[in-house]
Amino acid sequence: KDAGKGRFAVYDAALERTHEADQRLGADLRRALDAGEFTLAYQPIASLPDGAWTGLETLVRWPQAKIGPDTFIPVAERTGLIVPLGSWIMRTALAQLAAWEAEFGDDAPRHLGVNVSARQLREPGFAGEVRDALIEFGVRPDRFVVEVTETAVFDGGVALDTLVAIKALGVRVALDDFGTGHSSLGLLRTVPADSLKVDKSFVAGIGGASEEAVIASAMIQITEGLHLGAVAEGVETAAQAETLYELGYRFAQGYHFSRPLPPAEVRSHLAGSRLARSSPARN
Ligand code: C2E
Ligand code: MG
Ligand code: MG
Ligand code: MG
Repeated sequence: KDAGKGRFAVYDAALERTHEADQRLGADLRRALDAGEFTLAYQPIASLPDGAWTGLETLVRWPQAKIGPDTFIPVAERTGLIVPLGSWIMRTALAQLAAWEAEFGDDAPRHLGVNVSARQLREPGFAGEVRDALIEFGVRPDRFVVEVTETAVFDGGVALDTLVAIKALGVRVALDDFGTGHSSLGLLRTVPADSLKVDKSFVAGIGGASEEAVIASAMIQITEGLHLGAVAEGVETAAQAETLYELGYRFAQGYHFSRPLPPAEVRSHLAGSRLARSSPARN
């Protein structure tokens, strides 16, 4: 009896510590948002086999804190701060895309992705907020990609309705980290997705006759059959990129092509490729 009671007390204390830690980091996130401490990095999505940039994914950074979004985004989700933080991320990213379009025209990235959490999808006004932001910044809806994880839409209901409303605006929907959630294949019948982002865990072991290669191959066939786009995530080597291309993948993202970049570096790349295109030396 004592042992049982003790175990419960320990469990309880651990829970409280987690809650307390969440509240503390949550308050710090709130302060950081008000203080303008967050920045955005943009990681290119490359076409295969040439590696040309076709789009960018927005990834939030908190330079002062030295912790990554894998650590602070879950806390922002649990504390609700993801709602104002996510609004700031989306608006800042759309303003950035509009600026690149103004400067680079047809050489601007064709697509800009933003990660959206389940908590945001459950906000009643979310689809309206997306529509208003697109209008405010003058971004064409089909240039904007909302990245959601399977688990974010797993519980169906409101999140699914919101995705349908976002799709109706003409915005693209990508299923992120595909294959790591609970209901991957069944979900494809119900979620209005335009593309899948095949999780990096399937890319990591892709060499040779690995199980990952079999799964990555099956996934590209499914997307072809369902007329969905596919992006392979976490491509770190030329060999992986080559294998993916042989399997049928035409889009990939990962350190092999580029790390997530600050806006200034994206800008110099765009300026550089425009120069290259207009140079008579290039054939
Ligand atoms: P994600 O959306 O699946 O983003 C891809 C993650 O993989 C990013 O980590 C990216 O930096 C990393 N990555 C890219 N290429 C490679 C590679 O070749 N190898 C490896 N090992 N990793 C690679 P990051 O930026 O730390 O973000 C982690 C996760 O945090 C994201 O996964 C996403 O779920 C979440 N996140 C990031 N930014 C946001 C945001 O603005 N809003 C929301 N709601 N979530 C975000
Ligand atoms: Mg993503
Ligand atoms: Mg992902
Ligand atoms: Mg991820």
